[in-house]
Amino acid sequence: MDDIIHLLSDAVANQIAAGEVVSRPASAVKELIENSIDAGATHIQLVIKDAGRTLIQVIDDGKGMSFNDARLCFERHATSKITKADDLYSIRTKGFRGEALASIAAIAQVELKTKRAEDDMGTLVLIEGTEIKEHSLTTTQDGTSIAVRNIFFNVPARRNFLKSDATEFANIEEEFNRIALIHNDINFTLYHNGKLILQLQSSNFKQRICNIFGNMLNDKLFPIENETSFLKISGFLGKPENAKKRKSEQYLFINHRYVKSSSLNYAIESAYSQVIPDGNHPQYFICIEVDPATIDINISPTKVEVKLQNDRLVFGFLNAAVRKAIGEFSLVPQLDFDYNTELDINSVPEHGELKIPTIQHDPNYNPFKSPSSSSKSNNYTSNYSPKPKGNMQDWDSFLRGIKTTDVTPKTDSAPEKTVLFDNNNELENVEVDTYFILYKKYLLVKFNEKPMLVNIPRANERILYESYLQALRENPMTIQQSLFPETIVLSAAQAELLCEIREEMHNLGYDIEPMNNCQFAINGTPYGDNNADVKSVIESMLDEYRFNMMTQRDERDKNLALSLARQKRSLMKPLSSLEEVNHFLQRLFACLFPTLTPSNKKIYEYLSEESLEKML
Ligand code: ADP
Ligand code: MG
Repeated sequence: MDDIIHLLSDAVANQIAAGEVVSRPASAVKELIENSIDAGATHIQLVIKDAGRTLIQVIDDGKGMSFNDARLCFERHATSKITKADDLYSIRTKGFRGEALASIAAIAQVELKTKRAEDDMGTLVLIEGTEIKEHSLTTTQDGTSIAVRNIFFNVPARRNFLKSDATEFANIEEEFNRIALIHNDINFTLYHNGKLILQLQSSNFKQRICNIFGNMLNDKLFPIENETSFLKISGFLGKPENAKKRKSEQYLFINHRYVKSSSLNYAIESAYSQVIPDGNHPQYFICIEVDPATIDINISPTKVEVKLQNDRLVFGFLNAAVRKAIGEFSLVPQLDFDYNTELDINSVPEHGELKIPTIQHDPNYNPFKSPSSSSKSNNYTSNYSPKPKGNMQDWDSFLRGIKTTDVTPKTDSAPEKTVLFDNNNELENVEVDTYFILYKKYLLVKFNEKPMLVNIPRANERILYESYLQALRENPMTIQQSLFPETIVLSAAQAELLCEIREEMHNLGYDIEPMNNCQFAINGTPYGDNNADVKSVIESMLDEYRFNMMTQRDERDKNLALSLARQKRSLMKPLSSLEEVNHFLQRLFACLFPTLTPSNKKIYEYLSEESLEKML
């Protein structure tokens, strides 16, 4: 039999390896911009067409390349950044493996123009699927321009795998933001399909944050600052009242690299745990600087996870620093922090075990607990009625109902207004005669002699979701024009999204008109909406929509309906009469899927006798 093993051609091997480095347009963007930064650029322009499908171009004013280097840089393992393995431990550049350009050239048509200040002529290289098409002298300005055209042109499977333009561009923007944030001394511009999306002048870190995420962040942030001989922490934290349901605007940088670390994220979030409600997440923009020898970025150059030698130590410092910052800015004067202001994290012993600093606080303190919370105005309490409804007589009859509840409902005690279930467990007609609101959040009713507990916000989410879907697909909501339209200022990314979904928002009852780049007038809102804070609803809805878009499937109308439903589920008027409760339940059970929320959370549950017996 013939031998069956053969070596893959370079082109095929490169294409396969390329998949690891370049999985989508956004990863090419990251690599190219990082190269520009490594080249010492002060101005970096990113030009995108069709979300990167047609063109990704990065133009910089960095140090450029020589004639030979311009050709060599496309070879695998061609790098100017390390020469021996040991260099890895002191690396201060973004790249070091010499794989990015080789990978990009393997799956796209690339045009490189580059010139060093000391050379008279620049160099042009055209390379297509690893094949050099041209290598010649050219006239060009100092610096480097790399244009990547028709990404994955020779790997159709990958090209087909790309998501919608909106999704791909959101990913590009995210990569761009991550890099631009932490390199605030560099000027960046971003164009998409000929339109200027973002122009960032060199500025301080806070201005950079606001330039990217919108000026409204300016007074929503407070600084965090801490320096020890071992590490330096700086940056900005979001005020607790701006905490969001989604983990958006959470940026952690170690040595000028964006990193993701669930343990460090926990160190930050847990420092907030006493000042923001459960399930909400603070914004943060934190930069940590440590000796490069103590972090391992070599796990994968494209992944954002890092390994820290002193993981636990960094955790402790970070947690303490965030707490200290929260305390220092007296954001929560009611907080009973009994912590050391002279937090001793500045002296790290040269030798021996390091102690993680701790802060003492009252573990029983809960700012959301009444009575104190009722007196202060905070944004955390939903507007459900705080008082349980119903009276004791009803309660008695209610309990009687529970006691007699058996496998077969007692027909004799059933009220005329019976609740009927069909085989699908769907209610044809819902009517209850007693109800209780518990903890402002649960509705307790008796159905068919069985006590049933309904999670009100979840039920409302389902009701809203289905009505929004319908509004998007067939029956647009009626708009109530505002006499005094509010204006809303968004971040560049949010503004772009909003322009894209303006028509759908109109169907959902929002008449929104762009004023200038990032400013919009809200001319109309859904008829009958009690309109809590329409601006924050829209803002957080856009965040959620963007997040879903980047992480989940691409069903745009479902994503929209869900994003809006989630913002508004807690804004409904508290249920305050039997009529309202019945109307609410009828709407729930008229839904296609009344049992689960769109994100698959249970909406109601019957309280069986066994479960109550287990409890008591
Ligand atoms: P790495 O960044 O890991 O070294 P790359 O494949 O990204 O590998 O780049 C290879 C080499 O090409 C770099 O080491 C650098 O010398 C050169 N290079 C790439 N992009 C630029 C640029 N924009 N300006 C100057 N030199 C560049
Ligand atoms: Mg590189």
